[in-house]
Amino acid sequence: MNSVVTFPNRIPTVEFEERRFQVYTDRQLDKIEVIQNLPEETLFEMKVVASVLPFRVNEYVINELIDWDKVPNDPLYQLVFPQKGMLKEEHFERMAKLHREGADKKLIQSVAKEIRDELNPHPAGQMEMNLPTLNGEPLEGLQHKYRETVLFFPAQGQTCHSYCTFCFRWAQFVGDKDLKMASTDADKLHGYLAQHTEISDLLMTGGDPMVMKTKHLVQYLEPLLQPEFDHIQTIRIGTKALTFWPYRFVTDKDADELIELFAKLVDAGKHVALMAHYNHWQEITTEISEEAIRRIRATGAEIRAQGPLIKHVNDDADAWAKLWKKQVQLGIIPYYMFVERDTGAKNYFEVPLAKAYEVYREAMKQVSGLGRTARGPSMSAGPGKVEIQGIAEIKGEKVFVLRFLQGRNPDWVQRPFFAKYSDTATWLHELEPAFGEEKFFFEDEYEKMRKGNG
Ligand SMILES: *Cc1c(COP(=O)(O)O)cnc(C)c1O
Ligand code: SF4
Repeated sequence: MNSVVTFPNRIPTVEFEERRFQVYTDRQLDKIEVIQNLPEETLFEMKVVASVLPFRVNEYVINELIDWDKVPNDPLYQLVFPQKGMLKEEHFERMAKLHREGADKKLIQSVAKEIRDELNPHPAGQMEMNLPTLNGEPLEGLQHKYRETVLFFPAQGQTCHSYCTFCFRWAQFVGDKDLKMASTDADKLHGYLAQHTEISDLLMTGGDPMVMKTKHLVQYLEPLLQPEFDHIQTIRIGTKALTFWPYRFVTDKDADELIELFAKLVDAGKHVALMAHYNHWQEITTEISEEAIRRIRATGAEIRAQGPLIKHVNDDADAWAKLWKKQVQLGIIPYYMFVERDTGAKNYFEVPLAKAYEVYREAMKQVSGLGRTARGPSMSAGPGKVEIQGIAEIKGEKVFVLRFLQGRNPDWVQRPFFAKYSDTATWLHELEPAFGEEKFFFEDEYEKMRKGNG
């Protein structure tokens, strides 16, 4: 190993001991001690919701991140524990009835599937439009939506150390085979990347690729050091492990090998970025979470932070300001604030675009320039990532000023366009063009792209 990572500037304040990873799912709700103090009705509601939407939480999150004195309003509690409001009344009642009657597992599962199918399991045309091919064969586990970036879903990384209640990838976690997209095939990934020299960024995502053993990551990533992959300049890894299981980078059995892998990629000239999913400053309040950040940064890899704005979790400008400040202090670069997608339990978590923009602006006002690198609020919609840049009044008409941060056609990027202002709209498809226009400038072209792939 030519890159031994040392930590010259670190004065450890505590010894970090290995922690056993202990996880609970919907079948083990009664084993989670702390929640047994909650009202019986709350526990029943959890059980009902967790039979439809994915639920998984580990002991570290329960004991170190949630402030149980603040429950049910604690943001981290809302982030992982199912809430009644996540299901529509009719769906909730239908499932609650089955549980009250002690219905058998099969029936519960088939009703759960019916309900899920009504929750827009694959938003923004993910399945149909982004599937690339290699030598004529469709490639599972790969998404190539924007010219320079490929998303890769490694099969071993299609779960997470805990699940977020609002997850837009929730459909992957509930076992419906036809909703999954994942790949075990490193050769196919490498074949596709070798043929597509327009790609500069590989983005590994999931689930959470950090649930994988280091040896699997090595299989996918080390070959990229060969000369035929010189065009792959950046390796990004989307993860929430810095929140849900920072031990992954510090004390897990293959944590040191993981750190060495990052260092090796960096030393060979790749830009390695952990795209850390954060929603709330409370996620970075433990010693172990800071230690994980220090170890990653010591390799030369960088950490960029992104996360959605979620009602009940972080629809609060002060919480965002505090999060961004904390990130900057720890050397993390704030990157995106997302708008929650139109899938799953969106009713419960959604924030109107107008409010989202206010939260963003009020938070921005509180931080220095180094915290103002977070772009947003941004909607990852079918045509691209659309940012709300502002609310303005132009010739007597109140409008949203919008732009593409990413577009299916790179030429759309950065062009300002305008939508009629709305107090209530929560997503791009609810917006109408301003100034009496019939369509947004990209709509005809996007329609053609959709048909071309249909
Ligand atoms: C956000 C995103 C990317 C990366 O876009 P950047 O603007 O380069 O961060 C790539 N693919 C998909 C599908 C995305 O949503
Ligand atoms: S960490 Fe990401 S993929 Fe995993 S549950 Fe949360 S939002 Fe979903």
